[in-house]
Amino acid sequence: MTKIQMKTPLVEMDGDEMTRILWKDIKEELILPFVDLKTEYYDLGLENRDLTNDQVTVDAAYANKKYGVSVKCATITPNAQRVEEYHLKEMWKSPNGTIRAILDGTVFRKPIMIDCISPIVSKWKKPITIARHAYGDVYKSSEIKVPGKGIAKLVFEGEDKIEKEIFSFETPGVLQGQYNTDDSIESFARSCFNYALDQKQDLWFGTKDTISKIYDHRFKDIFQEIYNKEYKDLFEKEGLTYFYSLIDDITARVMRSEGGFIWACKNYDGDVMSDMVSTAFGSLAMMTSVLVSPDGHYEYEAAHGTVTRHYYRYLKGEKTSTNPIATIFAWSGALRKRGELDKIDALVYYADVLEKACLHVLNNGILTKDLVLLAENIEVKEVNSEDFLKAVRKEIEALL
Ligand code: NAD
Repeated sequence: MTKIQMKTPLVEMDGDEMTRILWKDIKEELILPFVDLKTEYYDLGLENRDLTNDQVTVDAAYANKKYGVSVKCATITPNAQRVEEYHLKEMWKSPNGTIRAILDGTVFRKPIMIDCISPIVSKWKKPITIARHAYGDVYKSSEIKVPGKGIAKLVFEGEDKIEKEIFSFETPGVLQGQYNTDDSIESFARSCFNYALDQKQDLWFGTKDTISKIYDHRFKDIFQEIYNKEYKDLFEKEGLTYFYSLIDDITARVMRSEGGFIWACKNYDGDVMSDMVSTAFGSLAMMTSVLVSPDGHYEYEAAHGTVTRHYYRYLKGEKTSTNPIATIFAWSGALRKRGELDKIDALVYYADVLEKACLHVLNNGILTKDLVLLAENIEVKEVNSEDFLKAVRKEIEALL
């Protein structure tokens, strides 16, 4: 069989622990036999990040900017315990944070649905994609533990000075100041509108603008201005809707909906709602994630981490039943996007086949352990990762 040819390389970012093991197996079993894979490889494994003083992460992000599409393996974000475990020179920052800052992107998380796992919310029939604005707000706030009586003020000092009283404390309490920037909200809006067009799905957005009349209202206004100026015609041409409402109304509508749309969330809302949505749809191992920059660069990955517990068992020589689905879908997402951009139909077709093969295997009840516990109304066969990948390969060969 002739292998599918590529034009532009994918930016490949390798990672850590169990997902690094799966990464290699996925490539060898499911991709290299079918695709003449072209990648520019960056090793974001913790050892190499330490060796390069984290320059490799920065280089990988700029390569993503250059070529447009990357695929990333899960990576360790070091904490004190990891600094000791890996004898690190420094507690390096989260690679995802570094890449996100360089690409200025928004993260979209979408669950993969299969027949034998019904969403906990019985009305949900199609995936709900959460778009989280991962910049500012409470995550970059300054806080004070107020010791007692006194006046709290909000002060801005620029060309003019603006000052407002927040509260006159009579007793101890707490105080918080947070911010965001128009630039970041505009990027967030454009990433969301672009991704909605890319996915041909409606976009919903909610904030608490009736209560937060300046802060949240700014988000609402920026989205509406950008929509009217740059996206309204494109949305109408595709028959898509941009729908804004209060966050509480949106949440209620989401629960009553059938799914199948993108839900743009402010930073904190996205943090909370993405966990709610992924749990309600099944498992973290079935959540895909893509970072989309406002100028149309894409970074595909699994939403989960490096599955450390399984890695330690792997190191002891055990075969683990780690779910490779979200990592496989990161590859299929990136290869499909590369195929679309380079106009290689065979590559787009292969990406579709790869996903279809995974879904066939899962819908036939061949499952990794995490899914066995969730599956209903089906005779299941629990397999380890290696046998799961072999089953997917057989399906690909049949489908191709
Ligand atoms: P994790 O996602 O690796 O695991 C969380 C839980 O989900 C565990 O109980 C695990 O067994 C289960 N799980 C996750 N993915 C699974 C899969 N594919 N198959 C079967 N079970 C799965 O998160 P964690 O344990 O909080 O973190 C482990 C490491 O991953 C940490 O060092 C952290 O820094 C890193 N991390 C990286 C990313 C990323 O690169 N995007 C995201 C989260 C965590």
